[in-house]
Amino acid sequence: AGIKIGIVGRPNVGKSTLVNRLLGEERVVVYDHPGTTRDSIYIPYERMGKRFTLIDTAGIRRRKNVKEAVEKFSIIKTLQAIDDAHVVVLVLDARENIVEQDLHLLGFALDAGKSIVIAVNKWDGMNPESRSEVKAELTRRLHFVPFVNQHLISALHGTGVGNLYKSIEEAY
Ligand code: GDP
Ligand code: MG
Repeated sequence: AGIKIGIVGRPNVGKSTLVNRLLGEERVVVYDHPGTTRDSIYIPYERMGKRFTLIDTAGIRRRKNVKEAVEKFSIIKTLQAIDDAHVVVLVLDARENIVEQDLHLLGFALDAGKSIVIAVNKWDGMNPESRSEVKAELTRRLHFVPFVNQHLISALHGTGVGNLYKSIEEAY
């Protein structure tokens, strides 16, 4: 019910951290057991009198050994989440800049005709030089989607998340 927000991106960019931050509480999203296929998680909630559902896409978890679980990116699950969402939030890792796989995900969301907002995560701890590099690269790679809002955020610290919400509601 309400605005369905699909949080998509490569493994480790900070999707689950952002989901927890958007929920506005240090709520731990509990996943299923290692070694099994993980479905996307749908979390309905209310914020300032409005209803939302967050879709946290998880990859497929492969167990290498008892202690080490490696998450493998699942394109199928991401496509399902994109299909289901009203607004797609594509999460990027600022430290890695924008890579081919990010652009593929953006392409899927565009093909599906979805409203898209880009969240450039892990902006904290970036030095000024890398910040301008990332900004320049984003401008270069994303000039073909001027209608897609970009937000420099830190899901970990909550920076930029308020404005991200505004964009999500505008995009809807
Ligand atoms: P997911 O695989 O996309 O769901 O990524 P997670 O939310 O599990 O985060 C992967 C790692 O990145 C974790 O160690 C997080 O603590 C870290 N992380 C997430 N967001 C941020 C952020 O804004 N800043 C920093 N410095 N680390 C972050
Ligand atoms: Mg996750």
